[in-house]
Amino acid sequence: MSDGTLSPQELSDFMGERGVEVFAISDHDTLAAYGAFTPPPGARVITAIEINTTWRENEVHVLGYGVPLGPSPINELLEYNQVQRRIRAETMVERLRQAGYTLTLEDVLRESGGALAIGRPHVAKALVRLGVVDSVDAAFKQALSRGKPGYVPQLYTTPEHAIQKITAAGGIPVLAHPGRLRDRILIDELAERGLRGLEVFYPLHDAADTAEFRETARRYGLVMTAGMDFHDIRYHTRGVGIDVDEQDLAPFFDLIGAIA
Ligand code: AMP
Ligand code: MN
Repeated sequence: MSDGTLSPQELSDFMGERGVEVFAISDHDTLAAYGAFTPPPGARVITAIEINTTWRENEVHVLGYGVPLGPSPINELLEYNQVQRRIRAETMVERLRQAGYTLTLEDVLRESGGALAIGRPHVAKALVRLGVVDSVDAAFKQALSRGKPGYVPQLYTTPEHAIQKITAAGGIPVLAHPGRLRDRILIDELAERGLRGLEVFYPLHDAADTAEFRETARRYGLVMTAGMDFHDIRYHTRGVGIDVDEQDLAPFFDLIGAIA
């Protein structure tokens, strides 16, 4: 319900085909996927959110596992990020128009299908649909990447704030894909500010990354989690699901079990 291309039900069906035993759908800044799919028989579903945050020009994604779906302390924060996304989309459209692209905010909103977490992929798809560019990839290359006319930096809440709210909501705050951080010292800072887990297992982490993050998790007593970051079958050709040793995830399941 944010920047993935499958519907929650299609994604859930893929989980069933792959035989995924446990999964979460962690959309950016919205929990709207929950309630929009029937899980495959026998699969365990854990609720999750991926909150976009900004810290010293790093884009930092904070996962909240086991968060409640009803009213909770994270809702205000999700609304804040959704408003920031809307403002950013307006600015992107303005800048693109100034650069000669014919595009309106309505075109972008239509592409997001009413989802509240609007991002660059929706702008890219709008440009493709209007015939302005040939592909989503071309839209990013020409118009939406850093240094291009439609690029607008994100300005979301801080990671510390997201950690506080996830904890207050009864969830487990986990740092997503640490290997994608520009500045890994952030992990140490957040470990001292209430972080509970680290996404050690991630397709883009190489063996050295995984070993480093495993050691970081051990040092700070963080639980280890696994994430596929699946958005689209074209870019994530290995599909959904990631194989992990059960004992590596046991401390996470202990925590989740305690709040379920
Ligand atoms: P945003 O959070 O609005 O800055 O958009 C980031 C999202 O854009 C990522 O999660 C990707 O799904 C998508 N994205 C980034 N680069 C590309 C690209 N070259 N082609 C297609 N999608 C991309
Ligand atoms: Mn992410």
